[in-house]
Amino acid sequence: MTNPRVENVVIIGSGPAGYTAAIYAGRANLKPVVFEGFQAGGLPGGQLMTTTEVENFPGFPQGITGPELMDQMKAQAERWGAELYTEDVVEVDLSQRPFTVRSEEREFKTHSLIIATGATAKRLGLPCEGQFWSRGISACAICDGATPIFHGAELAVVGGGDSAAEEAIYLTKYGSKVNLLVRSEKMRASKAMQDRVLSNPKIHVHWNTEPVDIFGNGHMEGVKIRNNKTGEESELHVRGLFYAIGHTPNTSLFKGQIELDEVGYIVTKPGSPETSVEGVFAAGDVQDHEYRQAITAAGSGCMAAMLAERWLSSSGLIQEFHQVSQTPDNDLQPQPTDHRTPPDTEFDINRTRYEGGYALRKLFHESDRLLIVKYVSPGCGPCHTLKPILNKVVDEFDGKIHFVEVDIDKDRDIAENAGITGTPTVQFFKNKELVKELKGVKPKSEYRQLVESYLS
Ligand code: NDP
Repeated sequence: MTNPRVENVVIIGSGPAGYTAAIYAGRANLKPVVFEGFQAGGLPGGQLMTTTEVENFPGFPQGITGPELMDQMKAQAERWGAELYTEDVVEVDLSQRPFTVRSEEREFKTHSLIIATGATAKRLGLPCEGQFWSRGISACAICDGATPIFHGAELAVVGGGDSAAEEAIYLTKYGSKVNLLVRSEKMRASKAMQDRVLSNPKIHVHWNTEPVDIFGNGHMEGVKIRNNKTGEESELHVRGLFYAIGHTPNTSLFKGQIELDEVGYIVTKPGSPETSVEGVFAAGDVQDHEYRQAITAAGSGCMAAMLAERWLSSSGLIQEFHQVSQTPDNDLQPQPTDHRTPPDTEFDINRTRYEGGYALRKLFHESDRLLIVKYVSPGCGPCHTLKPILNKVVDEFDGKIHFVEVDIDKDRDIAENAGITGTPTVQFFKNKELVKELKGVKPKSEYRQLVESYLS
């Protein structure tokens, strides 16, 4: 008899590999548990959450944005019964069967495990990196490129891969000129991306060049660079430096428990997601340093789920959860939302939610409620992740607060006055005074506690 409290399969990770494994395991009636992660290893949804257009995922001839693609995969996983938790796994024990997987909030015993934790963006470790992080240095051009400080300014990107190429092209929308710092004499990016970079008149490529340090006064004013062929050092007067120098696999949870290679990637059997531990499978970038594409990650997620099912079945451990039949017409439609805001002409000061600079100015001057302002930019993955988190908190305080969403690309002057240097940023105003600013995505409890403390 199978212990009903032991799961068939737990999946750690929520990029294309994790969600595809969840879709396949769900359709196989395994009722997979998925830890989407929260902060460890980047955003839920993985690296595609900080990507603009994905032009090479089959089935989307017009392209699709990374966050939209991940939304669709997540919805499909949920439709097939995956149980999703937006929490980081803090401990995994593979020394005993069933395995244990634990987050701060819960613990699961599971017969099999699919690891799809992906890889995290690398940093350069420059001497003044900490001082200028978010004050000019950014690891996400898509999230931060639209901020007012970068408008019309000279910018730099470091890296020579597809990410660097994509970010440099994206930043030409905002910057006056984009310097691409490539440490060797060639780019690693695909030919198509290289062509776009090299033919863009706003991009200047510095070959054999590496950043040495940042300089500035409060905000970054430039980067000191070195030509590693001649040893010559010079200064580049840029307002922003965007990192796109690759990734490190997220495998610290598994060190000493399964076989990793010298860089830290999980070692899998050739052509298979099987790891050195029976019943543990690895999919996506955590085991792939060669292809690293959304489509290959999704493919390996599918393989991992199929092998997990086969393994559970051959070990006599499988426990099936049959799906209640669903009406496909409605399943994948977006949920109805009451989060819309009326047009400016119908301004009603008693509402909770608003959008745009007009509402913000009016509320700031005319309301005495706690005012929460969320600054976002188009295509920003973390803004996407924050949306449902903050929406829940705003719903809890309906009628007691005002909440305004400001798109910094549409309301540039507002963002500039507010000193926004990246998105998402959330500001809290009490009695016309800025009392708190939170950058990035925080747990729901942190926003809730702040609101409670300002209302009391
Ligand atoms: P990559 O690992 O492909 O490239 C990293 C780049 O950073 C390399 O050019 C590397 O130089 C450089 N680099 C590494 N460390 C340093 C350092 N310390 N100083 C200066 N430069 C450094 O990473 P990406 O994030 O670009 O891409 C990851 C994967 O995602 C790839 O498979 C890529 O194809 C894919 N991708 C696809 C996209 C698309 O199709 N739209 C968009 C973005 C990514 P060197 O070459 O000398 O080692």
